[in-house]
Amino acid sequence: MSSWSHGAQPVGFESANRQAFFVDEKSMAGLKVELPTIQNWSCHSCSGCCRQHAIEVTDEERQRILDQRWEDDEAVGPDQPTIVAGGPIWNRSQRLAHRADGACVFLADDGLCRIHAKFGEEAKPLACRVYPYAFHPTGNGVTVSLRFSCPSVVGNRGKEIAKQTTELRKIARAVVPKNLTDWPAPEISPGQRPDWPDFRRFVEALDTTLAGSDASITVRLLRALFWINLVSEARFDAVKGSRLTEFLGLINEAAAGEFTDETIETKEPTGLAKTQFRLLAGQYARRDTAVDLESGWRGHWQRLRYGVRFARGRGLTPRVQECFSEVPFESLEQPFGGLPDGADELLTRYFRVKIQGLAFCGPAYYSVPLVEGFRSLVLIYPSVFWLARWLAASEERKTLALNDVERAIAIADHHHGYSPAFGLRGFRSRVRLLARMDEIGRLCAWYAR
Ligand code: SF4
Repeated sequence: MSSWSHGAQPVGFESANRQAFFVDEKSMAGLKVELPTIQNWSCHSCSGCCRQHAIEVTDEERQRILDQRWEDDEAVGPDQPTIVAGGPIWNRSQRLAHRADGACVFLADDGLCRIHAKFGEEAKPLACRVYPYAFHPTGNGVTVSLRFSCPSVVGNRGKEIAKQTTELRKIARAVVPKNLTDWPAPEISPGQRPDWPDFRRFVEALDTTLAGSDASITVRLLRALFWINLVSEARFDAVKGSRLTEFLGLINEAAAGEFTDETIETKEPTGLAKTQFRLLAGQYARRDTAVDLESGWRGHWQRLRYGVRFARGRGLTPRVQECFSEVPFESLEQPFGGLPDGADELLTRYFRVKIQGLAFCGPAYYSVPLVEGFRSLVLIYPSVFWLARWLAASEERKTLALNDVERAIAIADHHHGYSPAFGLRGFRSRVRLLARMDEIGRLCAWYAR
C-alpha cells in the first residue's frame, strides 16, 4: 500500500532549516533514516485503508496467506476467496479479495486485521505494514514521507513521527533494497543530474520557502514556483556546492520580494488553462487505484465519458465518487470565502512532508525531474480547493469548512505518485502546458479565493 523509499540526507549537508529533519544516524548499520519533525501519526483503526486500496500481493505473500488456512476459520470460511486476480486485463496481478461491502476480506467488525490478530503484524502483506509511510532514497539512507489519504495523517493525530524510530527501522529493513546507495539523485531538469548533496540543496531551498511564516501558503507556493521557473531555465554545470547554496538563497530572496499577501493579484485563468485544469483535477477526483474501479472496456468507456464532461465544463459535474453530487461546473468558479481556519497549517504541513520526504520527483514520482515534479505537486493546491468546493457545493454550501479541505486532500493524495494515469504522457504534458502558459500560479490564487 505504499512505495518503498530509500534515501537519506548526507551528514554535513548545509541547511538553513536543519531542524526540520530528524536524522536517526544509528539505524540499520549505517543507513540514515530521516523523519519529518512536523508530522504526527498513529493508526486510529478507522479501517479506511482496508476499504479504499487494492492490496497487490507477491507470490510469497499469496503462499503465506494460503498456508494460514483461512478456509478453516469460521470468520472467513471455505466459500470466500482470499486472493483474486487484480489490475486491468492486459496486466493481471493478484490482490487481496474484498467483500461485497468493499472491505478487505480480512477486516474484522472491530476495525482490526484478522491476519494481524491471529498471526502477528509481520504476517500481513508488506503493503499493509508500510502504509501510510513511504521511504525514498537520498544517496546514503532513506527519507520518510507519509500518505495523506489516511485521515489520521491529515489530522496530524497520534505520536510524533520523529519518536517512532524503532517501528520505522523495522519497516525500512523490509522495504529498502540492498543496492540503495547505487540510486542516482533525480534530475533537476532534463539532462541535469546533480550529485546527492547538490540535489538536497534544491530540496532544502524548497522546504525553506514553504516553511516561511511571513506569508500565506498561497504566496509561499507562488514564491517557490517563481524561483523554480528560474531554475528550469538555468544550467548548473559550474554552479555547485556553496555557490549553489548562495544562488538558491538569492533567488529565494528575490521571490520573497516579488510576492506578498498585500500585492498578490487574483486573475482569472484563461479558458484553455481552466479546461486543462479540470481534466487534471477530474483525475484527482476519480478512484483509479481503488478496488471498486470498474475494469475492462466498460470502465475505460466510463472514464472517457467523464473526461469529455470535464473538458466541456458546462452543465453538471459527473458523479465520479459517492461523496460528489452533480453540481453545476459554473458554481465551482465562484469565490468560496478563502481558506478556512486551519487550512494554512494543514497545507503547509502537506507540502513540507512531501518535499522533505522527496515524494514528488525521481523514483517516488514516475522518475520525473525535480522541476516538473514540483509543478505537479503545486497543482495539487488548486485541485484540492476545486475538490473541496465540489464537496461543499454537494451539501449546498457556498463557503469552505476545514473538513472540506481535509477530505479533498485525502482524495487527491490517494493518487499522487500512485495512480498509473499520473505518470502517462497525457497527464505530464498537461502539467508542462500549464507551466508554459504560466498559469499554475494563477490557478492557485483563483481557486483559493
Ligand atoms: S490484510 Fe489486514 S491490514 Fe491489509 S487490507 Fe486486509 S484487513 Fe487491512
